[in-house]
Amino acid sequence: MPARIIDGNALSAKLRGELATKAAALTAQGTQPCLAVILVGGDPASAVYVRNKVAGCEKAGIKSLKFEYPQDAAPADVLGKIAELNADPSVHGILVQLPLPKHFDEKAVLEAIKVEKDVDGFHAENVGRLSQGQEAFIPCTPNGVMEMLKSIEAPLRGAEAVVIGRSNIVGKPMAMLLTAAGATVTVCHSGTRDLNFHTRRADILVAAIGKPKFVTGDMVKPGAIVIDVGINRLQDGPDAGKLCGDVDFDSAKEVAGAITPVPGGVGPMTITMLLVNTVVSAERALAKSRG
Ligand code: NAD
Repeated sequence: MPARIIDGNALSAKLRGELATKAAALTAQGTQPCLAVILVGGDPASAVYVRNKVAGCEKAGIKSLKFEYPQDAAPADVLGKIAELNADPSVHGILVQLPLPKHFDEKAVLEAIKVEKDVDGFHAENVGRLSQGQEAFIPCTPNGVMEMLKSIEAPLRGAEAVVIGRSNIVGKPMAMLLTAAGATVTVCHSGTRDLNFHTRRADILVAAIGKPKFVTGDMVKPGAIVIDVGINRLQDGPDAGKLCGDVDFDSAKEVAGAITPVPGGVGPMTITMLLVNTVVSAERALAKSRG
């Protein structure tokens, strides 16, 4: 039986509706949630991501500010803007679109963002807090995956979870969240010796690799929940130019119990969780201002 499709668009629409209500309530109290987005350079994919984030804000009643810098921008100028936004009480979230040009120290830029406004959850303090189970802004993509698992009532406690990929923005925080939820987590990466051995015993398989259709049906345990984080643009063949995930959807859906599509899976959830974090930040700011 083909797998149940976990529809990221439908779940996003539901969550964004709830968010719009919260944003309107905050605005009525004089605190409209506000996200500031910084884009450096002309990477076309980054420009699309930023456009989608700004559009998502508008629809949810969240104010957005966009600051664009050329490819050869001076890091000091961007750091100066971050300092200005950190000090502005009307700004609740600050996001620097990655990747940054090579002459930037990415870590220094991310660490410059005030922890309370780090709605991407990339600041080392937020990562540390997450690892210790303290209140933190959780990186949006893995947080969106957890919402998707929740939406299908996936049994996580005691489950064997395998995450392919160990990046700071997806793989590592994903592993932390699944561990916190009670799963037994294995993190696979480019140095893993026998990848199929691990994937075939996964009740929950998360692919965050960046290689089109890398995970095939024969790598999936029958009945598993397969979450495809990958976003790749096909280069050749009849589907050239189309988006696809890290999972070969056609073969995997015949084996899996549930699976996320690309597009329309994790992608929309990532932006939704960014909006959630921005609204949460605004709620905290309002509560703080009232003492
Ligand atoms: P990354 O390049 O930082 O990390 C890729 C990981 O895959 C690495 O840890 C590497 O060890 C692992 N890997 C590479 N080849 C492998 C192999 N042969 N076997 C096992 N592991 C291997 O990428 P990332 O930033 O984590 O992104 C991963 C994918 O997710 C990309 O396609 C990216 O576009 C996508 N992404 C999607 C969203 C979203 O909103 N859906 C958000 C972020 C990233």
